[in-house]
Amino acid sequence: MQDYDYIVAGGGSAGCVLASRLSEDSRNRVLLIESGQRDTDKYIHIPATFFKVLEKGRDALFYASEPEQGLNGRPSIVPQGHVLGGGSSVNAMVYIRGSRQDYDTWAQLGCRSWGYDKVLPVFRDLENNQRLSGEYHGATGELTVSDRAYGHPLSWAFIRAAQEVGIPYNEDFNGARQEGVGFYQTTTSRGRVAVRRRLICGRRRGVPT
Ligand SMILES: Cc1cc2nc3c(=O)[nH]c(=O)nc-3n(C[C@H](O)[C@H](O)[C@H](O)COP(=O)(O)OP(=O)(O)OC[C@H]3O[C@@H](n4cnc5c(N)ncnc54)[C@H](O)[C@@H]3O)c2cc1C
Repeated sequence: MQDYDYIVAGGGSAGCVLASRLSEDSRNRVLLIESGQRDTDKYIHIPATFFKVLEKGRDALFYASEPEQGLNGRPSIVPQGHVLGGGSSVNAMVYIRGSRQDYDTWAQLGCRSWGYDKVLPVFRDLENNQRLSGEYHGATGELTVSDRAYGHPLSWAFIRAAQEVGIPYNEDFNGARQEGVGFYQTTTSRGRVAVRRRLICGRRRGVPT
């Protein structure tokens, strides 16, 4: 038996960041408990192959909602990551925050610290954006955010077509306005899903694994 100062239950997106940050102080003894397995499936680390991980089923749990009227009485299937990295190991890596209006509505309803002006500095602090910096973006955090390496000609055609019918081009869905058409940024780094590992191991900040 060992003693710990902190026990973090769940090695998912939030748990990994929490454990990593707590471990920055080498005096802290931190235990991270994850009920899933290690993130050894190669498709966890290749961007956009998350659906193969879901297909195999080993690293995800599939919950079902109550029957939905809008789905003709069928339940909606809700997958959740069940592996080191949690949802960040099985997700689509799209980097889009909630809208300003949603956060501000939560604040008005009583969650005062969830207003957009309160959460924006937290987003900025976490973010390591490869292209954007300034009021809406950070460039020194743990979460690497980058542009796609390749744009398929059909994707470009879709974006041009949307503009032709009056939808404005938007080059930053996490900036001043979310509306529009464009390419979203993703939480990928140099062609890999590298974020999660760095968060877990805290290598950038010299934290022992
Ligand atoms: C298929 C899919 C696609 C998605 N696509 C996107 C996207 O493109 N962009 C985006 O921003 N978000 C996306 N998301 C959502 C995003 O991944 C989640 O919102 C986020 O990962 C939630 O983080 P979390 O720390 O709250 O929970 P999780 O990351 O789910 O972490 C919870 C962890 O706790 C573990 N756990 C559960 N019970 C126990 C227990 N009793 N003991 C120990 N460990 C336990 C689980 O195994 C899991 O690892 C997607 C999610 C899924 C499932």
